[in-house]
Amino acid sequence: MRPASVVDAVYDHVYEQLMALDIAPGARIPIDVIARELDVSQTPVREAMSRLEREGLVRKAHLIGYSAAPQLTRKQFDDLYTFRLLLEPECARLAVVNMTPDSLRLLEEAAADMEHGETPVDRTSRYSRFARADAHFHDAILRIAGNEVIRATLFNQHVHLHLFRLMFHTRVTQEALEEHDNLLAAFRAGDAVAAEAAMREHILRSRDRLLAAFD
Ligand SMILES: [Zn+2]
Repeated sequence: MRPASVVDAVYDHVYEQLMALDIAPGARIPIDVIARELDVSQTPVREAMSRLEREGLVRKAHLIGYSAAPQLTRKQFDDLYTFRLLLEPECARLAVVNMTPDSLRLLEEAAADMEHGETPVDRTSRYSRFARADAHFHDAILRIAGNEVIRATLFNQHVHLHLFRLMFHTRVTQEALEEHDNLLAAFRAGDAVAAEAAMREHILRSRDRLLAAFD
């Protein structure tokens, strides 16, 4: 394997364990243990960990090393959803205004990836890949909407990674796919009002689904 693909493989391995909570929030992640587990040197592990650190999924402390980021608090969760509700419905509306046949095709492809992507080996990778595909789909809409300030702000929060880590549950995926279909229908119809409403509905429902994680 080329060094870059070793880093990718290590990243995927740790990412999936974090998303599935196989590595518990707050738990230490010793570099040497991961390196031994995967039979690689410590260099690619360090690189993968610093990528995960930039995404906020792990933290690094002086002399202690890496640990899994703590789970979102209820307050952080509420704040994130308020933030999404302010920005994403408006971006769905803007996306309709700026939609081209090419962008619509890209969106359809991003949505299809979520339903028919490469067959995952198990439930863990199915879930973590879904989280990534969902992030990609939402980012594609923001890209089409064309407001770079909003896009960069949402992107830098890595909203989807943190929300998906809250709950490792397959029901989330099927319902979200249906809501994405409603969004796509509005984009296809060029209906800005319907797109804004469909995004608001999707975010509200997603909030309700994940709220159960705090019970
Ligand atoms: Zn979604």
